[in-house]
Amino acid sequence: LSEIDEFIASIIFKYALLNAYKHDGKAQVNAVLSKIFSELPKYRSFAKTLLPHVERIVNEVNSMTIELQKKLLEERWPELIKESKAVEEEKKLPPLPNADKVTIVKTRFAPNPDAPLHLGSARPIILSYEYAKMYNGKFILRFEDTDPKTKRPVLEFYDMIKDDIIWLGAKCDELYIQSDRMNIYYDLARKLMEMGYAYVCTCPAEVFKKYKASSEECPCRSRSVEENIELWEKMINHSFKEGDAVVRIKTDMSHPNPSIRDWVAFRIIDIKQWPHPRTGDKYCVWPTYNFACAIDDHLMGVTHILRGREHEVNTIKQKYIFKYFGWTYPEAIHFGRMKLSGWVLSKSKIAEGIKRGIYRSWDDPRLGTLAALRRRGFRPEAIREIILSVGIKSTSASISLENLYSINRRILEPEANRFFFIPSPPLKLNVHGVSSKIEAKIPLHPTHIERGYRILSVTPANNTITVYIQASDAHSMNVNETYRLMGLLNFKVTNIDYASNVVDSVFLGVEALKLKGEQKIIHWLPLEGNANATIVMPDASETKGLCDYQCLNLKIGEVIQFMRFGFVRVDNINKDSAELTFYYTHP
Ligand SMILES: [Zn+2]
Repeated sequence: LSEIDEFIASIIFKYALLNAYKHDGKAQVNAVLSKIFSELPKYRSFAKTLLPHVERIVNEVNSMTIELQKKLLEERWPELIKESKAVEEEKKLPPLPNADKVTIVKTRFAPNPDAPLHLGSARPIILSYEYAKMYNGKFILRFEDTDPKTKRPVLEFYDMIKDDIIWLGAKCDELYIQSDRMNIYYDLARKLMEMGYAYVCTCPAEVFKKYKASSEECPCRSRSVEENIELWEKMINHSFKEGDAVVRIKTDMSHPNPSIRDWVAFRIIDIKQWPHPRTGDKYCVWPTYNFACAIDDHLMGVTHILRGREHEVNTIKQKYIFKYFGWTYPEAIHFGRMKLSGWVLSKSKIAEGIKRGIYRSWDDPRLGTLAALRRRGFRPEAIREIILSVGIKSTSASISLENLYSINRRILEPEANRFFFIPSPPLKLNVHGVSSKIEAKIPLHPTHIERGYRILSVTPANNTITVYIQASDAHSMNVNETYRLMGLLNFKVTNIDYASNVVDSVFLGVEALKLKGEQKIIHWLPLEGNANATIVMPDASETKGLCDYQCLNLKIGEVIQFMRFGFVRVDNINKDSAELTFYYTHP
């Protein structure tokens, strides 16, 4: 290897350029080396030989202008620029409008606890939290649970949502639950009626619809304050039935958007049939989302609201409340739709699927809930990074599975220790001509030798050692070709017996052959002393097989890499029966 070939030279050049591009034009030799080894693990054993070449190429690259580095990267490896853009943009969330005009920036995330959070919710959480942090402000978590009928809150979800938010790394400074605040909403409803900005409407829904469609005021709109208050008292004292009366906010009956016309602020819910999980049947009159949200955003001092564009109409509705009370409306930033391909996200679909037993639970690997992503081994940093890369733009953006995979892989790669997994049924490989015991000493992580080694040893019987290899490797082998068992030995295939699933071969020594052509390296396991592994795949199917016995010493929640298989998260360990369950993260 005195002269390196063109191929490896171009790999060095690629990573030198990329590293320079990411670090103001100056690449680091070590960083470049570690990138090369993670792409081409077999070059690890030639680190010493490669080093002078890497140093030379890094120097060359570092002497170029940043413009030239960027141009070369764009010409030859545009996909790398795209990948690293995410990191770049992360540092550059645009400033919030009028942040300097408020004493303290306050943002909020306001979920309905009728379902656990999914990837889509990560966006308002992360953006709201990051902005609060950016301005030394406060981030509020507010549970909007004022619809016990159609968006029924579920007690366990309040806690799950709190856990999800903590997991994402967002710390909330204040926590509110709207069902605790009913008296506040009632008081302000009464005030609006006293000021003449709201009224009790007793028109049947169908009748009001006609008024609305023809931009006419309904007769209730001209009720006196006294009449309104009297009817309101009846409403909150359980004297009306569901559908008998609502409170409407006076807007403009000829507003171009009919849904704005005298929108409903309170409605009666049959609370015996739909008791609230926190307040039972105490309240039968519940504020609508728009009323409670408007009141709380003001009373909690929210200065900047970050939410999806689907809320634009809500913003128009809520502004009426602010206008009538003489309050200042917060800055509302509406970001575009975030398309998430490859995930099941619909709350109703998920709930229905769980009920019917299609999904195991809210963290079924097929779902895009944060709980499911966590269980599969996704890192919150990866989600944060992908969300920040989408940012607050008002046009729609899409996030693909592959995109998230590649960010998560970059985070896991240096952390995940490596082990062997062989899916069932394994095939037997006989290597003839071995006279004594051979020990394989394989680092847990090739660039972090300090973490230690896995020791696997094989002892010959009648000059033959036998190991397990995976069926797909055996099926791709050819007679007379040489291969290497990772960390152990080289062998040449002499016979492949598909009927009895046995491959025979002869021993060719233990030293890795140095770059002489393509030597395929395969992983293996000894016949005895392995652990049984079940891997829950992203489609919820299970792949069973054998893995290193050392896996029994892993910790639940740890993510490892099964070499040539993918990243997996340890989900369960049973030491007595030597069985482990993993969740597959991604390749
Ligand atoms: Zn009416």
